[in-house]
Amino acid sequence: MLSKDIQYLKGVGPSRAAKLEKLKIYTVEDLLNYFPLKYEDRRRVSKINEIIEPKKYLLKVKLFEKPKLSPIKKNRTIIKAVCKDGTGFITLTFFNQAYLMDKLTEDEFYYVFGDLKIGYGKFEMVNPEIESVDKDWKAKRIMPIYGLTYGLSNNEITKLTRTALEIYYREIENVLPESIIKEYNLLARKSAIKNLHFPANGKAYSLAKKTIAFEKLLIMQLGLFNIKSNINTTETEVKNTLLAEKLIKSLPYKLTKAQLNVIEEIKKDMESQKAMSRLVQGDVGSGKTVVAIYGMLLAVGSGYQASMMVPTEVLALQHYETINQYIQKAKIDIEVELLTASVKAKKKAEVLSRLKEGKIDIIVGTHALIEDNVEFNNIGLVVTDEQHRFGVRQRAKLQNKGKNPHILIMTATPIPRTLALMVYGDLDVSLIDEMPPGRQKVITEIVDEKGKEKAYNFIKNIVKKGRQAYIVAPLVEESEKLELNSATEIFKDLKSSYFSEYNLGLLHGKMPNREKEEVINKFYEGKINILISTTVIEVGVNVPNSVVMLILNAERFGLAQLHQLRGRVGRGNHQSYCILVNESKSKKSRERMNILKSTNNGFIIAEEDLKIRGPGEFFGTKQHGLSKFEIQNLVNNVKTIEEVQSLSRRILSENPDLKGQEYLNLKREITKIFKDEIVFN
Ligand code: ADP
Ligand code: MG
Repeated sequence: MLSKDIQYLKGVGPSRAAKLEKLKIYTVEDLLNYFPLKYEDRRRVSKINEIIEPKKYLLKVKLFEKPKLSPIKKNRTIIKAVCKDGTGFITLTFFNQAYLMDKLTEDEFYYVFGDLKIGYGKFEMVNPEIESVDKDWKAKRIMPIYGLTYGLSNNEITKLTRTALEIYYREIENVLPESIIKEYNLLARKSAIKNLHFPANGKAYSLAKKTIAFEKLLIMQLGLFNIKSNINTTETEVKNTLLAEKLIKSLPYKLTKAQLNVIEEIKKDMESQKAMSRLVQGDVGSGKTVVAIYGMLLAVGSGYQASMMVPTEVLALQHYETINQYIQKAKIDIEVELLTASVKAKKKAEVLSRLKEGKIDIIVGTHALIEDNVEFNNIGLVVTDEQHRFGVRQRAKLQNKGKNPHILIMTATPIPRTLALMVYGDLDVSLIDEMPPGRQKVITEIVDEKGKEKAYNFIKNIVKKGRQAYIVAPLVEESEKLELNSATEIFKDLKSSYFSEYNLGLLHGKMPNREKEEVINKFYEGKINILISTTVIEVGVNVPNSVVMLILNAERFGLAQLHQLRGRVGRGNHQSYCILVNESKSKKSRERMNILKSTNNGFIIAEEDLKIRGPGEFFGTKQHGLSKFEIQNLVNNVKTIEEVQSLSRRILSENPDLKGQEYLNLKREITKIFKDEIVFN
């Protein structure tokens, strides 16, 4: 049985089982699904006289003379064995492997594999793998290289996997229905698994990879579609729109057409008896916050509570203040509270009890909101902002605190159209594809390291005019390993040089929350001229007077992230600038920066990013049980994704509940991953 405890596999035993457990391998099936990270091509036996550069080689050699064993220091030995292959000579050096002296015999041929070094025209391999030709199990093959744990060698994992395949091969059942395997020219699962571990050849490997990717993606896509088609009825029905309308009337600006459309969609959803499950996608600065507040007022106006969950404390605080400003202006008298990890215990207890009693109408907070002790009286709407930071499960947890409340998710991370279904297939999607009028286009410049000084001078001039600026660095503190700018260092440097006459602030994730708040507030109030920060300011921070965004080591960031950072400026009436310091010399890096310079449209940037970096970057890690490895190595292929999407739509229209024997395994796998989120009729 594949689900058999790995302990009982031949060659395992309790101690090895414990080590395997560290790799999350508990059963034979887990072992078979533990795919190699990469491969070593040992198919070709090289001839010594062909060798021109030092690298890994597989050679077939014979001893040229009796090997020499010499002691070095105590208990240490060295063997030098000169070998030949008919075209040349090579010295094999073995440290502390004295036992080889008995095994190496002069008339036998050996395969040796290892890093070949060239010194003074002589070839040498140190501690190569060696085995006699008639016992070969590793040579002449494509060998898997696994992710390892302490005390387990690659050879051990390889052997165990081979054993498991020998014993259990026949038991590996297909997850995909036979008809789909045929239609898309895929492999049977057992053959796919075998070829992922021990590829017979390049073609078999590609097919194997495609088969497993297809399977994973189909599970994910059908799971999401199932969730969407099974959205529950809700008891939260909006009947009173008075508060929400009051908000609209009091706004100091006219809503854009896109905002109005989305507001209308939200209203319609919330007035219906089906729980809303809607994603609002809108570029940075497109005005999503007011749309969310509108939704929350629909809920509150009809007698329900609303919550807004955001990924950082900084953002929570800011939204809390924004909401208060809006409702004060609209003369709406409701209770708004803040709940984050840094709220003091006493205050927290008070907030929690008022929340439970229904005395708080809107609560804004971070992950603290999904803790078990947070109870609502009657939550009607759950908003999450910048959802790419939250997993599906975290969202579900907040949702479960009520009786199927409506759900609204805001995101500024544009997902390329081809991938949207794969990532957001469980949601209805609204688009705010229009910017409020009068927005300045942020001018983007790319400079290299030498351009930094000029950039600092530029900032100086801007600050002299009363504006503010951000300087972002990739690291918090200096690192010995990485030669990158750190916020702390830059802060110290600039304070004592370029900007000694100005007020600088430092902000990073490792600071205590209290200090973070203080710095952000000072920046809001204009008491800090230049804020030096890590990417903690990436999402949501809104200081319209800040007009320059200088990003150090810009090459280290993803395009979407750079676009987000750039979105921190251009929020007021002043011309704004984004200066990217590209400290890499690679052409690809330059290309990526140029995309950012050429457009301010997040969707175009996302599509271009997809072309350059592949789809892996767009999947939240582990959102649906896909590991980082699986995302990068298996499902990282747009064409397969598109095939799976069109197939999923077809299955959904023909057989949404996956009825029938041939869907049984697929259904089981979907349920395994999505657990209680899934309902099949
Ligand atoms: P995001 O979509 O990035 O969350 P925000 O909601 O923070 O954007 O809005 C950015 C800024 O634009 C805020 O200062 C907000 O008051 C303002 N804003 C929103 N909608 C409009 C509009 N229709 N006209 C003018 N300004 C607007
Ligand atoms: Mg926002």
